Amino acid sequence: MIDLSEMPGWSLLVLPVLILAFWLLLKNRGSGSGVAYNRSAEYFKGLNYLLNDEQGKALDIFVKLVESDWEIIDTHFALGKIFRKNGETDKAIKIHQGLIARPSLPEKYRSRVLLELGYDYLGAGWFDRAEGLFKEVLIHDQSSEKARRNLILIYQQEKDWHKAIDIAVDLFGENPSDIGPMISQYYCELADIAKVKGDVNQVEHNAQQALRYDSASVRASMMLAEQSMNRSDYKQAIRQIELIEEQDAEFLPVVLDQLIECYDHLNDPDALLKYLGELEDKHDLPGLLEKHAVVVERYKGKEAVIDYLTKRLKKHPSIQGMHHLLAYRSNDASAGDVALFLDLKSALVKMEHSNSEFQCHHCGFQANTLYWLCPSCQSWGEVKPAIVEAA
Ligand SMILES: [Zn+2]
Repeated sequence: MIDLSEMPGWSLLVLPVLILAFWLLLKNRGSGSGVAYNRSAEYFKGLNYLLNDEQGKALDIFVKLVESDWEIIDTHFALGKIFRKNGETDKAIKIHQGLIARPSLPEKYRSRVLLELGYDYLGAGWFDRAEGLFKEVLIHDQSSEKARRNLILIYQQEKDWHKAIDIAVDLFGENPSDIGPMISQYYCELADIAKVKGDVNQVEHNAQQALRYDSASVRASMMLAEQSMNRSDYKQAIRQIELIEEQDAEFLPVVLDQLIECYDHLNDPDALLKYLGELEDKHDLPGLLEKHAVVVERYKGKEAVIDYLTKRLKKHPSIQGMHHLLAYRSNDASAGDVALFLDLKSALVKMEHSNSEFQCHHCGFQANTLYWLCPSCQSWGEVKPAIVEAA
């Protein structure tokens, strides 16, 4: 007899699927026939084995049942999915291997079973086997987007960027806005590898390819700007850096130092100060105020920077602005004021450092390094400079 109180936790999830399968059996065969009676008896036997944790015997019965009526194969897929989600990939693999081994498996279900078995292997971390299965799916069903997307995931995991690009390009035509940024990131990865090898031509070629597939690729613009700077072509580097404002202004804080360096090389502080002022009016960017203040001080002197910060704070009050203004003014203050300034400063510094420098816009992951592929949610290009202060 089935004792519900002794059922393992996972079986509570499996139970509705089995009941559905049972219902389908009766529906397809007519509940009054002797055949249906035998099948339902078999079904209960299988259910009993399953609930008593004798999966091997249970699966034998279920596979025989599906062979007598392939229409109920969906319930096997549902079962497999539940096992997989529950981390019991070995059981999911048994179900799907049992199906694929049946000579009577109708051809129309073959790709689906291979796909499900591929998911099982992915879940178990057996990438080689999963890759083989997804490739086999493509032999049976050349248009399978699921097989391609999973192959891309495998190649991405293995950092085999050439193979990932080859497969992703097949999907690009149908879905450029989704696939383009992915291909673009793969080319940026190749550009990074070329950079390590010192192959300047390949860096530029791959960065250009990245922009071809995603014209908003900040990463490619950053790489090209770096190459231009290495060639001392600062005008070109400025164009490439300023393009980032159109691509995704939130990344600008990452390149402000390079931008300032380029203008310094061209000895054009007026153009730099004008651009920084325009940026400040349009965007609320972490670190911009601090860098702007340093440039004002360097080219216009201390009075000018205090004047700049005071005006800026009136227009846009911020902790960061207060902090910098205090730093600039503390030298002129009396001994009592200095102590107060220092207390305030350390409190403000603490507030600023309570946050991370970068944050994933997709999952909220925080880091002090810029990751192009979020280590937490595996999204590309979502980790961006974080706003470190409250306005
Ligand atoms: Zn994330």
